[in-house]
Amino acid sequence: MDPVEKLFQDLPTPEQDEAYIGEHGDWNRHRFCEVVMSVAVSRFSRSNDRDRLFIKRWVKTVKETGDADILRCMIGLFAIDKLPMPGNMSAKSRQLIYHAWIAKGRKDEDHPFKEKKPSETPQTNPTNVSHAYLPARLTDPKVCANCAAPDANHACSACLLKLDDSHVVAKTAYCNQTCQAQHWEQHKHQCHERRAFFRATSILYEIFMQFMKRAWVVQNITDISEKDGILHVTKGARQTHTVDDLLIRPFPFHKASSEEHGIAVLVDNQALMVLTTFQPLLNRLLLPICKTLEEVHIMPRNVHRPICIGQGMNNMDQVHTVLRATLKSGEQMLMDFAAPQFGWRETVAEWNTWTSHRSAGKTYPEPYGTALQTNNLLMPELAPAYLRAGEWQQGKIIKA
Ligand SMILES: [Zn+2]
Ligand SMILES: [Zn+2]
Repeated sequence: MDPVEKLFQDLPTPEQDEAYIGEHGDWNRHRFCEVVMSVAVSRFSRSNDRDRLFIKRWVKTVKETGDADILRCMIGLFAIDKLPMPGNMSAKSRQLIYHAWIAKGRKDEDHPFKEKKPSETPQTNPTNVSHAYLPARLTDPKVCANCAAPDANHACSACLLKLDDSHVVAKTAYCNQTCQAQHWEQHKHQCHERRAFFRATSILYEIFMQFMKRAWVVQNITDISEKDGILHVTKGARQTHTVDDLLIRPFPFHKASSEEHGIAVLVDNQALMVLTTFQPLLNRLLLPICKTLEEVHIMPRNVHRPICIGQGMNNMDQVHTVLRATLKSGEQMLMDFAAPQFGWRETVAEWNTWTSHRSAGKTYPEPYGTALQTNNLLMPELAPAYLRAGEWQQGKIIKA
């Protein structure tokens, strides 16, 4: 059989892939690599067909590097360009439709193969659905916390968290001040803890952003712009490293089409940075107010605007790591400072609300501190990079 056809036929079907993510919280890299290896030994016909050359090239890359992620990303981007004719339901067409859907953000309302129940049909035109915010029906309760009456339009102002002065992140709803007063004994611990958590995370986020904006590790970005709902980052030729490159630089916001797009790129792939470099600050501000902290891995779903970096690394096929804080009241909160890379506006949210909309499958928790341990173990050179540059430059200065 033709190797390109065979590749698409042997890959896990969309249903198998989704079931695997549902069960494991990640896609089946092992199976993916097996299929690619079996295809890589077949003879590719000497065709100059562009698609064939493209697939052949990336199969070769996977064979050489063992990195299946890159092929999966490339199939996604290839699929966006090559959407098959409607009605063509060959194995290859289904794979392309499925991978294009993922590369564009794995949005519920665009799922290509799921029959929608009439009750699930969105009220609004699907093209108007924005996943920048969690849906208001999830974050803006209208039921009174005291008497469970509907249409509760009053809120506890102390623990009300809003974004951009409009979008509600967290809220406790009441009919009126009487209901609020009656509920206070029960609510006050939760209220204090939420306030403490929101204050701590807003300080942490501010420090994180200020640090990231100023301490950009030089990469030669030449352009950041959105096309068809994907943020494309173009990089220039790799620069040779000079003494100056070791210096930290401000992020090149002038290369981005907007500040928001710049911030998306700034925090892309930096989820672990929060849990490693910033851990001493997390310890100081979060540990005293939390019962437990956990690092949780998820596959992103309902992404507002995915990012493609350089050759086409799309951030939809990589596991995303966030922090889950269990407050002393038992309430669970999300902290996700790298959220803007997906176009998401909430960097904190109520945990179950967030995962019900943002996670494609099983969430996979690890103890707090795992990222730092792994980082120190696997990449000892990464953690002290700035320090070593400092010492080296100090050495130069002393010699001079
Ligand atoms: Zn009430
Ligand atoms: Zn409150």
